[in-house]
Amino acid sequence: MKPKLVVVGNGMASIRVVELLLEQAPELYDISVFDGEIHGSYNRILLSPVLAGEKAVADIIDYPPAWYAERGVTLYRGDPVVAINRFRRLVKSQSGVELKYDRLLIATGSLPLMLPVPGVSLKGVIGFRNLEDVETMLEATRQLRYAVVIGGGLLGIEAANGLSRRGMKVTLVHRSDALLNQQIDPAAAALLRATLRERKLELRLNAQTRAIIGRDRVTGVSFDEGPDVSADLVVMAVGIKPNIDLAKKAGIRCDRAIVVDDTLQTYDPRIYAVGECVQHRGNTYGLVAPLWEQARVCATHLAQFGHSRYPGSVTSAKLKVSGIDLFSTGDFIGGAGTEDLVYRDPRRGVYKRLVLKDQQLVGAVLYGDVSDGAWYFDLIKSKTNITSLREHLVFGKSFCEAA
Ligand SMILES: Cc1cc2nc3c(=O)[nH]c(=O)nc-3n(C[C@H](O)[C@H](O)[C@H](O)COP(=O)(O)OP(=O)(O)OC[C@H]3O[C@@H](n4cnc5c(N)ncnc54)[C@H](O)[C@@H]3O)c2cc1C
Repeated sequence: MKPKLVVVGNGMASIRVVELLLEQAPELYDISVFDGEIHGSYNRILLSPVLAGEKAVADIIDYPPAWYAERGVTLYRGDPVVAINRFRRLVKSQSGVELKYDRLLIATGSLPLMLPVPGVSLKGVIGFRNLEDVETMLEATRQLRYAVVIGGGLLGIEAANGLSRRGMKVTLVHRSDALLNQQIDPAAAALLRATLRERKLELRLNAQTRAIIGRDRVTGVSFDEGPDVSADLVVMAVGIKPNIDLAKKAGIRCDRAIVVDDTLQTYDPRIYAVGECVQHRGNTYGLVAPLWEQARVCATHLAQFGHSRYPGSVTSAKLKVSGIDLFSTGDFIGGAGTEDLVYRDPRRGVYKRLVLKDQQLVGAVLYGDVSDGAWYFDLIKSKTNITSLREHLVFGKSFCEAA
């Protein structure tokens, strides 16, 4: 009999592990996957283009249920695992399925943070995390008029843009005056603010949400300062928290998330974890690229070719709003010992800021022209000495090569 691999969660990180594992060792395990959702595994990143009407739901389901059947993987759809018994090496699902495991992979992702304000559990107040949330938003765009999106980060801006493109009157609320303050610097934030206003998004900046108003359903949002805003739908995009209750209940070592080593093993050597639910060398990640790097190492170890190590990741962020090009990576704010190279072309709406330290590029913010984002990202990751490129660096790769 083959050893049993049980996978908890069927999101972007775990499906990558399963796919790479099947490539490397197709016959090694008897694999079962428990999925809290029902569609098969989909590309969560593309929820924003679905909301904006640029993609259909069917376009983003990369691993439909047939994918699993064709590979002999058992998929339990809409049946989350509710308990892990580490002593009996057994998981139990909501519907009562009990499965033994030899290896367990936990990839339960994150949950959207909901502000602890009065009215947060009213009907019409949702997060932005899964297809069900998008279906709720699409339903609202067909019947309702006013939307409030709380949170001016990547997800909040993408949600606000999508709802506005679908015809709702949208107010985007942010607690500071700089949108995307974790991704871009104030100069790029000012350009973004102007562009969003041109697109008829109402911006409510420096605003602390006091309460969600309504009896059974939301009707508005009130703030510590300024007048209330009408709302038929409120989308909270104020952050995420690793989804670790299941692991904690099973006594698996957790801090802010499930603690893993460089092989993505938890403190229980039979149990691996990948994705947004893990903490590696003190870091958690909320973007796909690092999770796929984790998945590659985890799959190699599960396949018993275990020589690779996950050292951690440098990340980059991109806004997915068509017509607004924005990219940032690394330490884009800088500080003691850093220098800035800045390029501005107000007429073309282009702004670039590169942060240098010790003859290396350590961060970049690009607005309006992001064509060199991947190149700058590689220079940062490879810690390239940029002394010979410095003079032309801000003009981009082709200029540097030509020079
Ligand atoms: C709208 C949106 C846009 C995004 N855009 C980008 C982007 O542009 N670039 C980028 O890099 N990242 C983006 N992200 C983030 C990216 O989608 C996540 O980093 C990635 O999906 C995390 O993968 P994961 O496998 O850890 O978690 P998830 O993909 O969330 O998968 C976790 C799965 O586990 C399931 N689950 C939870 N508990 C259980 C249980 N007990 N039993 C069974 N199943 C369970 C959940 O239902 C879920 O399906 C975006 C996210 C959202 C929501």
